[in-house]
Amino acid sequence: MDESSEISADMPVRQGLTFDLDVDICVIGGGLAGLTMALESARQGASVALLEGRTIGWNASSHNLGTVMPGFGVPASDLIERVGFEDARELWTLAQEGADYVRATAAPMPGIALSEGALEVSHVDAGDELISQLQTMGEDFGTEIEGWQADRVREVLKTDRYFHAIHFPKAFQIDARTYVRGLAALAESAGVRIFEDTPVVSIDPAGIRKRVFTPSAKLRCDSVVLAGNAHLGAPSQRLTATLLPTWRYAALTEPLGTQLLHTVVFRGSVIDSHGIDHFRVVDGDRLLWSSPETTWQGDPRRYAKRIQSRIAATFPELGLVTIADSWNGMFGQTVHGMPQIGELQPGLWVLSGFGRQGLNTTAMGGQLLARSILAGDDRWRLFSPFELVWAGGSAGRIAGQAIDMWTRSHSAAAGALSRFRERARERELAREYAREARIASAKAQASIARQHASAAMHDERRGPGA
Ligand SMILES: Cc1cc2nc3c(=O)[nH]c(=O)nc-3n(C[C@H](O)[C@H](O)[C@H](O)COP(=O)(O)OP(=O)(O)OC[C@H]3O[C@@H](n4cnc5c(N)ncnc54)[C@H](O)[C@@H]3O)c2cc1C
Repeated sequence: MDESSEISADMPVRQGLTFDLDVDICVIGGGLAGLTMALESARQGASVALLEGRTIGWNASSHNLGTVMPGFGVPASDLIERVGFEDARELWTLAQEGADYVRATAAPMPGIALSEGALEVSHVDAGDELISQLQTMGEDFGTEIEGWQADRVREVLKTDRYFHAIHFPKAFQIDARTYVRGLAALAESAGVRIFEDTPVVSIDPAGIRKRVFTPSAKLRCDSVVLAGNAHLGAPSQRLTATLLPTWRYAALTEPLGTQLLHTVVFRGSVIDSHGIDHFRVVDGDRLLWSSPETTWQGDPRRYAKRIQSRIAATFPELGLVTIADSWNGMFGQTVHGMPQIGELQPGLWVLSGFGRQGLNTTAMGGQLLARSILAGDDRWRLFSPFELVWAGGSAGRIAGQAIDMWTRSHSAAAGALSRFRERARERELAREYAREARIASAKAQASIARQHASAAMHDERRGPGA
């Protein structure tokens, strides 16, 4: 979303903090992570204040595509390589608990528009990779998944861009904004005090009671949770510097009628395996699509044109669709791709770095930290191998953008190569069929000729008048 644009009018406006306050837990940041953390802490009996610098969910949390996937933004095989099989499986189980939490919490919310299933499509023809992913995620980690061959994928997505896919029947999607609003309402009814327009400008984490400063008040608490994503800023510049801020752009088309329903038959979310395009059909016949990313904040209208071209390149039958709305949201990416969850020093906690896959992982992180602070659950230590690594400052942003561009062009080239190979295979097959058809026809003609010759000889032997 453009920073200047407003959250919709039906979102209740909450007052800023203008008086000093004492609570058990202070959560900084009112996105998905902070809201889940605050809600779960209040449910366990803590007094909680949530301080939000702007309005609840104004950034990525209300502007994502609402796809709830299992696992993390990094492949299961990378996790195993980093932390070993047993810990990787435990992390995967935690992430699944996050997805289950979102489903259970969202399902009763009016207008949540819950729908089922997601397809991770590959635009390269790499069947071996598919089999190894099915083995790790399906058999080793117990995630319900199916491998789909290219023919099946192309029955539901009319494009030659995609080859095989992994189908996640238990993944689902929700309306992100409704979920954020619902979480905030649940948190307030559980007793959380939410203050908007209340940026935290500094914290003093020394001592048993921590102090949190805002422009017009100060707050004292036993535990502080930093859930500000890459916008955190002043309260911990060093923590902020461990995240690469990344803006992702999304657009919603005008209604596209029956052509869309013939072209995109699959009704869940579609995500390509390189994390470049992500889309689904909403409101019956509109496409919700997110794609380009930048490490600086760009104008969503400009990137809407890029989305328009990506739709046309993926589904030529749709042509240049009309875009009704476009926006962006920023998320923080860690160097290792895993979220930052844990205790930085006694009573100071971090809950951040959820990247492109924040719905299940913020839910997992919020629940986990609430249990850690209030019930001594120490499974947050599973995240310790993923240290707080400096993301490289402005050089990191340039490198991040270069890597993103390289990934996109590399992936486009790999996709083009796979399609070229597929067409070459088809041409080769067609030539093979033609050759066989020619041989069969020559054989048939030879056999007819032989039959004619033998009939003629037969007639000759019988002589004239026979
Ligand atoms: C276009 C797009 C599509 C996406 N699609 C999906 C998807 O389909 N599925 C999925 O799982 N994920 C998706 N994501 C990622 C997901 O939205 C994020 O990972 C998630 O919202 C991060 O939540 P958060 O609470 O950490 O951060 P945020 O939403 O950024 O919330 C942090 C909040 O903290 C506040 N804050 C920061 N500093 C301070 C301070 N000093 N004082 C007070 N308040 C402060 C900010 O104002 C902000 O409101 C998408 C993201 C984008 C941008």
